[in-house]
Amino acid sequence: MSAESTAATEPTRAAHVTLRCAFCRTLNRIDLGRADQKPRCAHCSRPMLLDRPVRLEGDDFERSVVGAEAPVLVDFYADWCGPCKMMAPVLDEFARRHAGSILVAKLDTDRWPDVASRFGIRGIPTLILFVDGAEAARETGAVPAGRLEELLSRAEGST
Ligand SMILES: [Zn+2]
Repeated sequence: MSAESTAATEPTRAAHVTLRCAFCRTLNRIDLGRADQKPRCAHCSRPMLLDRPVRLEGDDFERSVVGAEAPVLVDFYADWCGPCKMMAPVLDEFARRHAGSILVAKLDTDRWPDVASRFGIRGIPTLILFVDGAEAARETGAVPAGRLEELLSRAEGST
């Protein structure tokens, strides 16, 4: 990079995340900043789906969320929870809108109660935005799309 090259308003910064392939479950380290180039799983060559919420295994929490170079919004949910179902399309849309800059993940609190208790989850859905591996903001209960965007600005304000 030459000295006079001014950083664009939206610099393409590598933001690696480690995620399991939705098809073969192989762990892949991918650059979220290149989501528009449709990255593929190194093992089965099927697409890594980054424009929708990814399902997290509790065992992967450290490397996929805490170890992510990009902000991660985690939806702590359960299958039987009505408000969680209401949140699903809102999160789908949020993931689409922020594809390439924010990872959206879902964690089933019934399957991974230890992770839920680690973050003091008392009601679901709980949405926690992690920035640099640490909690930056959270919302509890089903919230409209606008409140998710507020969560982002709150997190930016706190850094
Ligand atoms: Zn695969």
